[in-house]
Amino acid sequence: MTEYLATIGLETHIQLNTKTKAFCSCKADSWNEPPNTNICPVCTGQPGALPSTNAEMVRKAVRLCLAVHAEIHQENFFDRKNYLYADMPGGYQISQNDRPIGTRGYLDVEIDDGRVVRVRINNLHMEEDAGKTKNDCGIRLIDFNRSGVPLVEMVTEPDLHSPDEAAAYLMRLRQLIRWIGISEGNMEKAQLRCDANVSVAVKGSAFLGKKCEIKNINSIEAVRKAITFEIARQTRELEAGHEVEQWTIEWDNDAQELRKMRSKENAVDYRYFREPNLMPVLIPDEMIAAIRAEMPELPAEKKQRFIAVFRLPEYDAKLLTADRETAEFFEEALRLYQGDPKLVSNWMMNDILRLIRETGLSAEELKIRPADLVDIIRLVDDRKVNISTGKALVDQVQSSGKSPVELVREQGLGMLSDADSILIICKKIVSENPDEAAAFHAGKVTILGWFMGQVMRRTRGKADPELAAKILKDVLGAGK
Ligand SMILES: [Zn+2]
Repeated sequence: MTEYLATIGLETHIQLNTKTKAFCSCKADSWNEPPNTNICPVCTGQPGALPSTNAEMVRKAVRLCLAVHAEIHQENFFDRKNYLYADMPGGYQISQNDRPIGTRGYLDVEIDDGRVVRVRINNLHMEEDAGKTKNDCGIRLIDFNRSGVPLVEMVTEPDLHSPDEAAAYLMRLRQLIRWIGISEGNMEKAQLRCDANVSVAVKGSAFLGKKCEIKNINSIEAVRKAITFEIARQTRELEAGHEVEQWTIEWDNDAQELRKMRSKENAVDYRYFREPNLMPVLIPDEMIAAIRAEMPELPAEKKQRFIAVFRLPEYDAKLLTADRETAEFFEEALRLYQGDPKLVSNWMMNDILRLIRETGLSAEELKIRPADLVDIIRLVDDRKVNISTGKALVDQVQSSGKSPVELVREQGLGMLSDADSILIICKKIVSENPDEAAAFHAGKVTILGWFMGQVMRRTRGKADPELAAKILKDVLGAGK
C-alpha cells in the first residue's frame, strides 16, 4: 500500500490587546459595543485621512518576536496590500510585505506522544484587521468596529505533519500569547484565527504536493477536523490517480464541512507598495533591551525549572505551567510554605485546579489566595484538621472569602486528637454493634472501614484518622 505524508503550514492572526487601534485613536476592543460606534475617518478608509502608528502595537509585536526567538528588523515598513472588499472600504489593507517586523523564529511544540516538534516561523508581520460582514435577510451589513484593530500575522514553515501537531501548535501559541500578555487569544472572539496550508504527497517523495489553503478556522477542534478532512480528500484524489488542484477552501463550522471558495491558479497579485502616509518603524536597541528586561519567564523554561529545581514530575510541571496565573499561584504558595514542592503541587492539582475548572475563574481571580492554601496545608501538617476537612476548607475559603483559621474557629472544625475521647467513642460503637464486631473476629477485615465510617460520623468528621484507626483496631482486637 502506498503511504502518504501530509505537510501543513499555519498562518495565524493574533489580535493584539492594545487600548487603541493600529493607526488611529479609536478604541480597539468593541466586543460588547453596538456596530459602528468605534470608528473614525482613518479606520474606515476615508480619502485624505492620515494614519499614525500605535507604539503599543509595535512593543507587543516585539514581545512576540522575542518569545519566538525571531530576528527583529529594527527598521521595518508598512505596505499597502491592495484588494477590494466591502469590509475594506479604502480598497487596501495596511500590512507588511517585504520588510516585516520579524523573521526566522521558532516555537517548540510538545505533542501528546512526548515528541517535541520545532516549528520554524517564517515571518511575523503587523497589519490592521478588516471590518465584519454579516448577511441578514439578503442584505449585507457591515460593522467597521473591527477595522484597524492591530494584528500580528505569524506564518510558519511547513513543519507540521498531522492534525494533532497543528492543534498542539495552536494550543502552544495560545498559551504563549496569553502568557506574555499581548492578546487574550480567545478563538471564539476571533482574537486568534488560523488559516492552514495542507498538501499530501507520497511518503519519501522529493516534492510536496500541491497545497490547498483552508480559511476561517476558528477553534482548536475545527483545526483538527478541517485538516483531517482535507488530508483525507487529497489522499482520495491521489489514490484515484488525479492531481490535486490548488484550491482555497473554507471551513464551515455550522455544517462541519469544507467548501471550495476558488481555484488558486496563481498567487493573487496584491500590488504591494510602501504605505506613503506612514514613517518606517524604527526599533532602537534600548527599546528591545527594555522589552526583553520586562519579559516574564516563558512557559517552556518555567516548566523545565519546575522539573529541575523543584523535582516535580513532568506531568505536574506541565499542568502547573498551563497558564501564567496558575504557575505564579503555585510559586507564591511554595515560597510561603518553604517545604516539599510535591506536596504543594498535589494540593494545586487536586484542589486549586479543580476549583478553577468548576468556577471558570483564573487562579488570579480565585478568592482563595496562595497564603490561604498554605494556611490549610499547615493546619493539616500540624494535625489541627484532618485531610478531608482541609480539602473542604479550600471550597469554604473560596465561597466565604474568610481565612482558613477563622473558619476552623467558627465551625469548631479542629481535629479531635484526644486519645481518651476517641477510645470512649470506639468502645461505644463496638459494643452497640455486636454482629459487625463478630464478623470482624470471624476474619472479615474489610468491616474495619465500616467501623471507621461510624467513628467519623460520630465525631462529625473531625477524628484524627490515623489515631482513630489504631484505637479502633485495639478495641476490636481486645474483644477477640
Ligand atoms: Zn479609527
